[in-house]
Amino acid sequence: MSDLVLDEPARSAPPEADDGTWLECIACGATFAPFDAIRYTCDDCGGLLEARYDDLPTFDDFSGEGVWRYAAALPFSEGVSLPEGNTPLHEVPRLRESVGVNRLRIKHEGMNPTGSFKDRGMTVGVRVARELGVDRLACASTGNTSAALAAYGARAGMETLVLLPSGKVAAGKIAQASLHDARILEVDGNFDACLDIVQELATDGDVYLLNSLNPFRLEGQKTIGFEILEGFRADYGTYPDRIVLPVGNAGNTAALFKAFRELVAADELGPDEVPALTGVQAEGAAPMVEAVESGADEVRRWEEVETIATAIRIGNPVNAPKALPGIRETGGTAVAVSDEQITDAQRALAGEGVGVEPASAASVAGLRKLRERGVVDADEDVACLTTGHLLKDPDAAFAAGDDPEPVANDVDAVRALLE
Ligand SMILES: *Cc1c(COP(=O)(O)O)cnc(C)c1O
Ligand SMILES: [Zn+2]
Repeated sequence: MSDLVLDEPARSAPPEADDGTWLECIACGATFAPFDAIRYTCDDCGGLLEARYDDLPTFDDFSGEGVWRYAAALPFSEGVSLPEGNTPLHEVPRLRESVGVNRLRIKHEGMNPTGSFKDRGMTVGVRVARELGVDRLACASTGNTSAALAAYGARAGMETLVLLPSGKVAAGKIAQASLHDARILEVDGNFDACLDIVQELATDGDVYLLNSLNPFRLEGQKTIGFEILEGFRADYGTYPDRIVLPVGNAGNTAALFKAFRELVAADELGPDEVPALTGVQAEGAAPMVEAVESGADEVRRWEEVETIATAIRIGNPVNAPKALPGIRETGGTAVAVSDEQITDAQRALAGEGVGVEPASAASVAGLRKLRERGVVDADEDVACLTTGHLLKDPDAAFAAGDDPEPVANDVDAVRALLE
């Protein structure tokens, strides 16, 4: 595991920096110019890269709305935008009561333009692609990354290629990628196999990779953390004790940790004010949970994965070296939930008017389980992240909801049914 810590010393820009921005390897500390060449991992050791800035943002630097409100924390001041971010932080009083915590808010990332948080990463990632002068963008995807890439690529006038695990992508997501005109290749393998292939294409220079291995995508996703902190502070004058989120490739876990580290380094947030990052996986795809529960420094790749929550049907979370320290350093944890618990949570959210896809509901299912186990206390203030919209996976919604009832074309027949 890397030694990313919450309270790290401020950095000054190395000679490679461009306008105060550079890339740094989280494993060996090597630094690289950000935009002179395409690289996704460290030239020296193969470790994950992070974007770094010599000028860290304060809350006062933020103005406007959405992802680009946080330009002071991003490598550019504007990007290819649809626009994204500024998602609702729903109150869910009945759910809060039944889970049994002091406060519960739902950060509904399904309200982004293409219906998932991936848009926050793409608005920055596609801007960087422009800077690098590439014209073909690609990703492996469980669905939402492909929808976002297709839409943002279309907006930017760039060619897009997506690799999907055959038969395991929800209908709404393929429909989006298709209509936004991505070239869609269905691979006879799981998501991890798709990522292996596209990573090799990217390394050979055939395509520009916009999976969350790309450090700039995570910069955009940091803004989820800023929005949650600002939202809680505006409503309660305090920050949440805990943020619970679904984990697939662990990009969001890594991105939220980075947002908090930057605020701590800028003296905007005390280390003890940082919310506990709490990851939730499906029981059938839980390599991060396995690592957290066993105290391992590394995640063991699961070759076979299965869950109704196809967006997190991932056995090899590439951002684990960034995310595991995030969970550890913030005093968080990780938990696995069954498909049945996921569906129950999806129904409970829907019962408050909040429509989410199965992976998203995993956050609420995980919170409930941790509360029942006494890991989460009754006096905690919690934000759950719901990552994608209900309409992404209409088949799962039909299966979880009630069936329509046929009725004759006649008012008395309808009335009879209502009695
Ligand atoms: C991509 C995605 C996830 C997984 O997020 P990571 O950052 O890869 O952990 C979870 N839920 C939905 C709906 C997604 O699209
Ligand atoms: Zn390195």
